[in-house]
Amino acid sequence: MSPVFNFSAGPAVLPREVLLEVQNELLNWHGSGMSVMEMSHRGKEFMQIAAEAEEDLRAVMGIPSGYKVLFLQGGATAQFAMVPMNLIRGRSSIDFIDTGHWSKLAMKEARKFNVAVRVAASAEDRGYSYVPAEETWQRDPDAAYLHYTSNETLGGVEFPFVPSTGDVPLVCDMSSNFLSRPVDVSKFGLIYGGAQKNIGPAGLTIVIVREDLLGQALPGTPTMFDYKIQAEGDSMYNTPPTFAIYVAGLVFKWMQRQGGLKAIEQRNIEKAALLYETIDTSAGFYACPVEKPFRSRMNVPFRLADPALDEAFVKEARARNLLQLKGHRAMGGMRASIYNAMPLEGVKALTVFMQDFARSHG
Ligand SMILES: *Cc1c(COP(=O)(O)O)cnc(C)c1O
Repeated sequence: MSPVFNFSAGPAVLPREVLLEVQNELLNWHGSGMSVMEMSHRGKEFMQIAAEAEEDLRAVMGIPSGYKVLFLQGGATAQFAMVPMNLIRGRSSIDFIDTGHWSKLAMKEARKFNVAVRVAASAEDRGYSYVPAEETWQRDPDAAYLHYTSNETLGGVEFPFVPSTGDVPLVCDMSSNFLSRPVDVSKFGLIYGGAQKNIGPAGLTIVIVREDLLGQALPGTPTMFDYKIQAEGDSMYNTPPTFAIYVAGLVFKWMQRQGGLKAIEQRNIEKAALLYETIDTSAGFYACPVEKPFRSRMNVPFRLADPALDEAFVKEARARNLLQLKGHRAMGGMRASIYNAMPLEGVKALTVFMQDFARSHG
């Protein structure tokens, strides 16, 4: 079979090298005679795998001491509830930056708690095509925290900056641009994300949380949802998603071999630039609705001027082994997700196809 390029938004493409490693050691991990899937999470083999995965993530991302790294389950969606449960800490409001689909869902969940959910800024006025300038945000200086979505996976809107919130803890849903560029973790109170976008298999959720924010969960918080208990148990209060942690660990090592986040960011910039240039120079055949400074490097939404051609586009792309380009059902059009593991070669193949398609249908 000739290689395919998978542009799915998630679960998404993984590095081929990593999949081959997994295949090689699937039945017998490092001479143990067992698959990682079959190991006790409390055995020394898996404890080593998990410890190394955390160590490598800390190294790749430059996570300072004073932060806990948690390997949880439930996806980013569970964090929409877990974050307020743990971080309200007796305060009466939470600030949100509303940039579209995922920030709205995070707000919806926060409204279930006895707290004012404030929209400090919203991009709804321009169809969620941008990030409101920080100077215009109407913040509450006493908010429990400020929450934002660093990359809106459906809308293709990415923050080109990290907000400065002073004493108010900054909380970020980083699901779809986690580890795609360097970030200064010390600016954050908490970062969370599902692994299935840019890290590893579905089933693993990563939370990075500043230690001083732990230990004040709301009364009635279930044990599994209390960060402090998860931190004290090294994310093994119960059975963690062992196989997903193992694969994520291999991805962290792959990232180190790629030269780390700076080098990975350079490649992501190059891939995204090529794709946006193809859209912008198509004489209107394709269009991206996102304002230029906020265009995502990870998820590139675009529309065909004639939506009657959508079906033919997807079908002809598939015939060239370019998969999963159909946009989210809520958005329509197309979307190409070009996470870390998408090679430049894949983006080149897509742009060549897009030009050919425009020529033959224009
Ligand atoms: C995919 C996604 C989610 C939801 O993730 P689940 O792991 O399916 O719960 C939340 N936020 C963002 C930004 C996402 O991309």
